[in-house]
Amino acid sequence: MHKNTFNNDISSNKMHAHNHSIKCNVNTCTYYDNDYCSANVIQVNPMGDGIAQSSEGTCCTTFVKTNS
Ligand code: SF4
Repeated sequence: MHKNTFNNDISSNKMHAHNHSIKCNVNTCTYYDNDYCSANVIQVNPMGDGIAQSSEGTCCTTFVKTNS
């Protein structure tokens, strides 16, 4: 199981504005901000058996579900 290798504490990882380097449409993530990611850093890992064959085999493990 792949995990984040950095501190994903939202109060320290979330930027005040969105990250212009990372576009994202996952609008149920705490880091989502108007079609951009607002995390300082994200971690992407292969899913499943750990050998990605396409982009669909990758996963943003920094994702944190919004409360609402
Ligand atoms: S942490 Fe991942 S899923 Fe969440 S907004 Fe950023 S790129 Fe998207």
